[in-house]
Amino acid sequence: MISGPSGVGKSTICHRLCEMIPAEFSVSVTTRPPRPGEKNDQDYRYVDQDEFVRLRGADGLAEWAEVYGNLYGTPRAAIEEAIKAGRVIILEIDIKGCLQVREKFPDTMTFFLLPPTPEEQQRRIVGRKTDAADVIERRLAKADGEIRYASEVGCFNEFIINDDLDETVDRIYQAIVHNCARDFREADQ
Ligand code: 5GP
Repeated sequence: MISGPSGVGKSTICHRLCEMIPAEFSVSVTTRPPRPGEKNDQDYRYVDQDEFVRLRGADGLAEWAEVYGNLYGTPRAAIEEAIKAGRVIILEIDIKGCLQVREKFPDTMTFFLLPPTPEEQQRRIVGRKTDAADVIERRLAKADGEIRYASEVGCFNEFIINDDLDETVDRIYQAIVHNCARDFREADQ
């Protein structure tokens, strides 16, 4: 699981890791409207509130949370199938989601990404030109609290300052390969 405040580079890192490992990306369900350039069933599965509530009620989600005013959840089937087949699956989810997944799957590796500075975080989030000013402001305002919460919950294996993208990707890649080496060998046989 990869977590961290908005604008820290989580999506880019997840997609790079998926190509390197190889791993699959857990496509979350969300009530957030798509951003320009995002694709349904690739970045998220976009649903309305009723459909989200229906899925949740039918036990279709392994975890869910309200984040920045929208609902997000991880489809249960995709992770259960990946675990059963011995594949690596990468979840990009918030801290509350990480805690719920950790309860069910205690061996899950968790990484919390931090921005080098608040100024750099703001530069990145403004630079992607996908969110309105009030949305950006709301997300930046939450960063301090999220970082504090992450350091208190005791659920993260590693805290990584995402200063250099290549270094961050390599560090997570090494950790996953090291941790999963035995599983990879078994899958090869
Ligand atoms: P964004 O709207 O920027 O794509 O995501 C907002 C936040 O929701 C991020 O912190 C992201 O990690 C989190 N998030 C995305 N998908 C899920 C999910 O399935 N479950 C949970 N708990 N959080 C999610």
